Amino acid sequence: MIATSKAAIQDDVVIYGGGMAGALLAKALAPEFRVTLVDPNEYFEVPMSVPRSLVKPGFADAAIIPFAAALPGVAHVRGALVEMHPEGGLVQLKNGKEELLKGRVSVLATGSKFSNALMRAIDGASVRERKEFYVQYHRRIVASQNILIVGGGPIGVEVAGEIIENHPAKKIIILEAGPRVLAGTSEAAAAQAAKVLKASGVTVLTDERLECADSTVAEVLSGAGEALTSRGQSIPYDLLIWCVGGKPNTAYMAQHYASTLNQAGRIRVSPDLRVVGSDTVFALGDITDLDENKMAWHIGGQIRTAAHNIRAILTRAGRPSRLKAHKPQTGNPMMAVTLGSRNGVLHLPVIGVVRSPFVARVAKSSHMLVPKFRKALGV
Ligand SMILES: Cc1cc2nc3c(=O)[nH]c(=O)nc-3n(C[C@H](O)[C@H](O)[C@H](O)COP(=O)(O)OP(=O)(O)OC[C@H]3O[C@@H](n4cnc5c(N)ncnc54)[C@H](O)[C@@H]3O)c2cc1C
Repeated sequence: MIATSKAAIQDDVVIYGGGMAGALLAKALAPEFRVTLVDPNEYFEVPMSVPRSLVKPGFADAAIIPFAAALPGVAHVRGALVEMHPEGGLVQLKNGKEELLKGRVSVLATGSKFSNALMRAIDGASVRERKEFYVQYHRRIVASQNILIVGGGPIGVEVAGEIIENHPAKKIIILEAGPRVLAGTSEAAAAQAAKVLKASGVTVLTDERLECADSTVAEVLSGAGEALTSRGQSIPYDLLIWCVGGKPNTAYMAQHYASTLNQAGRIRVSPDLRVVGSDTVFALGDITDLDENKMAWHIGGQIRTAAHNIRAILTRAGRPSRLKAHKPQTGNPMMAVTLGSRNGVLHLPVIGVVRSPFVARVAKSSHMLVPKFRKALGV
């Protein structure tokens, strides 16, 4: 029983999660509908910027955009969805109170949950707190000679690229359990990234997993310690950076909608992006079971489909024949991975692998897509 239901807010659209999917969907719908956005943070942060902000804290100034500036027509509720309920979403507010939010349409876009605050603030942060985090992290990087990066996905590779470019004398090791870095893209693109990193002095260990370490994954600023690998190697470190990817942030479905979750905890959606079995609840982004790489690149298509379908439901009584279907980008190895601000590797559709540092610089490395998303949000 939800005690707060009398205080419920009724809006056209309530979006839970103001990341890549939620913030851009809110931007698209705000001119036509009353939109409420729920997010524990005070801001939208361009995710691609994070590896650079760790080594250049000033980079976060443009990459962190307060919701108030990005979405002036949208009501921002600072809190976290804790229970999705047939009556609406139960939200734990920043001040500790709970509120039930009701929308004619609800959108779940809560993204990935990381074990610590490296990639995303965990319990909700202000702009000032997030920027201070980068200043503090940068100090730790500067003070650390031996840096162990656990995980050779795009995040681990990009973080290594940033650190070695700015601190070439540091000893950096990437530890990857799989047979190669960048499992989500083509072998040729992955080989190019590994080659560039090795040429800059980074050690890349593959087929070798972390068995244990003196620091836990929850510690964003690890102390110095030692790690033991599956090949029996002992690696001393001053800083251990966990780049092990996230899990779908969907715990709020467990109580009433457990049957909509697949084994990995992702929300099963119909081709029109509604949660299976629901007429008015959509799910977008990393939390969905759509068979495609969990990337911002693919989310653009989801936003267009969802915006169209939400308009159809709110303005045309939702005749099902009018709803569009999203075509997942299954098996698409498209990826743009930076290797510092002046290099990178891309795998593009039709063209294949692009090894040109110039192209990588123009496409992503020099700006980390910050101007693109600032423009999309109108700032
Ligand atoms: C460092 C990094 C670099 C990346 N680089 C690229 C790249 O170059 N190209 C690319 O295509 N993709 C990239 N990605 C992946 C891309 O950023 C994600 O796929 C994308 O952000 C997912 O969008 P989303 O909206 O599903 O989730 P997110 O963008 O993760 O947003 C989720 C939002 O939900 C909020 N939230 C969480 N829990 C709750 C809750 N209970 N209630 C309310 N709000 C909640 C969070 O605060 C957050 O704002 C990168 C990711 C990272 C972390």
